[in-house]
Amino acid sequence: MGFRLANVEGRAVLVLGDDYYDLEQACDGRISSDPMAALAACDQLAGIAARLSDRAPTGPIADAKLGPPSPRPTNSFGIGLNYRNHAVESGMPIPDAPLVFAKFPSCIAGPNDDVALRSDFVDYEGELVAVIGKTAKDVATDDAWAYVAGLCVGQDISDRPTQFTATPPQFGLGKSFDTYGPIGPVLISPDDLPDRDAMELTCSVNGEVRQKDSTGDLIFDVPTLVSYLSGILTLLPGDVIFTGTPGGVGAFQNKLLRDGDVVTTTIEGLGTITNRCVRASDHPRADFLPEQMKPLLAGK
Ligand code: ZN
Repeated sequence: MGFRLANVEGRAVLVLGDDYYDLEQACDGRISSDPMAALAACDQLAGIAARLSDRAPTGPIADAKLGPPSPRPTNSFGIGLNYRNHAVESGMPIPDAPLVFAKFPSCIAGPNDDVALRSDFVDYEGELVAVIGKTAKDVATDDAWAYVAGLCVGQDISDRPTQFTATPPQFGLGKSFDTYGPIGPVLISPDDLPDRDAMELTCSVNGEVRQKDSTGDLIFDVPTLVSYLSGILTLLPGDVIFTGTPGGVGAFQNKLLRDGDVVTTTIEGLGTITNRCVRASDHPRADFLPEQMKPLLAGK
C-alpha cells in the first residue's frame, strides 16, 4: 500500500478517497507540516495513510487550493527529446544519452496556477514528473524506483525565443520563467499505481487535444534517469525530474500559447492539472524568432 501526498495552502496532506487529512495532525506532530519534510519522511507515509480511516478528514480534496507537491526542490531537471515522435518532429536525432537541462526550482508552480506568458512564442509540453524521496548517489537502475517518492503530472512551459537566443542553444532559462513549472495535483507513490511504467498522457489546449502518448514510450524511463543523474550528482528528497514531452508541441504547428488559453494535462491514474495563460510583460528577447521556427511562423 502506498500514499497520495498533496500540498494544501503550504501544508502537507494525505489524500484518501475524496478527502484530505492534514499530515502533521495525522501523525501527531512527528512530521512537520512542511511538504518538503513530508517528502524527506516518505518512508513513513504509507503507514500513516493506512491508519487514516480512524481519523476525521480535514476536508474534501475537491475544494482545496493545491500547491505543488514539492514546492522547494533543491534540484529540478528537464529531459529533452525523450520521446521518439518529439525528436522526429524537432528534426533531431534520437539521443543515445539523456539530454538534461535545468528547470530552476523557482519556476515550480501549483497544479492549477496561472502561467504568465512573456512573449508570443511560449509553448506547452505535457510531461510525467518524478519526485525523489530518498538521497540517491550512484544508484543502479534496478534499485532506482526505491528512491522515487512518487509521480505526478507536470507542464514544462517553454519560451522558445529564450531557448534558442544563443548559439549553441541553452534550454535552462527559457524553461525557468516564473510559473513555467506547474506540477501536481497529487504525488502518488509508485506502489499505488497499477502500471507506473505505462500511463496515457494527454495535453489539450482549450479542449483541443495536442499531445497524446503513453509514458511507456519514454526513451529513458524513470529508473534510467534516476540512475543516470545520481551518477553525476547527489539527488535529494524533493528533487523534481520533468521526464520529457511527446510529439505535438505548438512550435511545429504554429499553435503557440495565447492570452486566455487553458492548458489541461492529464496522466491516467495521476490526475489532471489545469493552467490558464495570462499574457504579461515582454521579456528582453521576446521579439527574437528562432531560425528553426521561421518557416513555420511565416506570415505571423
Ligand atoms: Zn520538456
